Amino acid sequence: MDTGLLVALLNPTIALALGAVFLVLWFYQRHRPYLAVLAASYSLSAAGFLLQYFTLPVGMAPTKLLSNTCFTFAACCLCSAIVARYGRRVPYVGIGVLAGGGLTAFCWFLFVQPDLTWRILAMNFGFGGLSLLVAAELRPVRGRGPTEMILFVLSLLSGLNFFVRTLAVIVAHGPFTSYDGFYASSYWTTALLSHALLSLLIALCLFCAAALDVMKALKAEAYTDPLSGLLNRRGFEERARLLLLHCATAKMPVALVLADLDHFKALNDLHGHAAGDRVIADFAAKLLSAAGTGGVAGRIGGEEFAVLLPLSDLGAARLFAEAIRTLYSAGSVDGLPPGTRVTASFGVTARTGDEGLEPLMRRADEALYKAKGNGRDSVRLSYERSAYEQPESVSVVEPLKAG
Ligand code: GH3
Ligand code: MG
Ligand code: MG
Repeated sequence: MDTGLLVALLNPTIALALGAVFLVLWFYQRHRPYLAVLAASYSLSAAGFLLQYFTLPVGMAPTKLLSNTCFTFAACCLCSAIVARYGRRVPYVGIGVLAGGGLTAFCWFLFVQPDLTWRILAMNFGFGGLSLLVAAELRPVRGRGPTEMILFVLSLLSGLNFFVRTLAVIVAHGPFTSYDGFYASSYWTTALLSHALLSLLIALCLFCAAALDVMKALKAEAYTDPLSGLLNRRGFEERARLLLLHCATAKMPVALVLADLDHFKALNDLHGHAAGDRVIADFAAKLLSAAGTGGVAGRIGGEEFAVLLPLSDLGAARLFAEAIRTLYSAGSVDGLPPGTRVTASFGVTARTGDEGLEPLMRRADEALYKAKGNGRDSVRLSYERSAYEQPESVSVVEPLKAG
């Protein structure tokens, strides 16, 4: 078999295989449309390569135009998909100008003023411009992770490949006047090999990015409580430990609030489990909006919640808990009979020194226990200063406002 044909089939085969893989990935992750766009890009690129070798009955010139149109759309899809994957706004105008400009110049040098060398330059400069546009879009995010950095470098290399290699090969080879010997020329051979290498590397990088997306989503799912949307106990403990570490480094005060809904078993028995679920979701939403973006809020048990508040001392955390307690006991929950009052009890403690999560949880829990013992719908504080100096001392005070 002709080795030239074998080399020629290299790119469409690779492109078709990559297109199929991205299609399968998209099939299982429909919420990531950039995967479908990548599948389209690699499939179009395969069609473009095949049309370089197999002339359609419509004739040579229309086949070349169709092939280069496939390449152009493939490049546009690839650029948009990469930019979209990294959360950037797709620069449709820039992509349209570069791709449209390249293809228009190609048509001019195909139909109006036929010149193969200028056609090569027109297409390669258009693709080079698109590669550099992607590099410019990835520049602000290149420090975020390895795939961002690798794709940024690959986009630069691809730009360099389209501009420098094309010019260098044409200068060395001299102008192309016809397709005779074109597919065995140094231009076409280097174009095929560099394209095969770069498209494989880009695809590998995008596979990694897609795999990282899946792992991140799985981790988020494993750390999230589906009913309340808050972190579950595991997620809360991990995020809280990170926040405690950060606060210790920055020498920031931090306080912990534990909350437990009152007589929840009775509420379930009276109004049903579904109503109980709605109460949990409603309380969690209020807790989350009060905690804001700085705090870490979690549902650490059936009807038990925890909020770690940075930049908060005991007084600030007490005000936080009191605000939620009053807001909650005064409000109503959708789906419960009007006038049904749901209340919660709170235990509050502040960190002393660099202590970890466990002693904080223990002290806040003891304070919460006191709140339950004092008739519920109240906030109690733990004044224990240090686990080492006063291991048994837990004192409580009256809430700001009786429940
Ligand atoms: P206390 O005021 O002392 O906290 O009394 P309580 O009834 O709230 O506490 P207890 O620990 O006796 O009961 C907690 C109840 O919370 C029992 C359980 O059925 C209910 N519960 C736990 N998880 C869920 C849940 O996901 N949905 C609903 N609807 N109820 C739940
Ligand atoms: Mg309870
Ligand atoms: Mg409980």
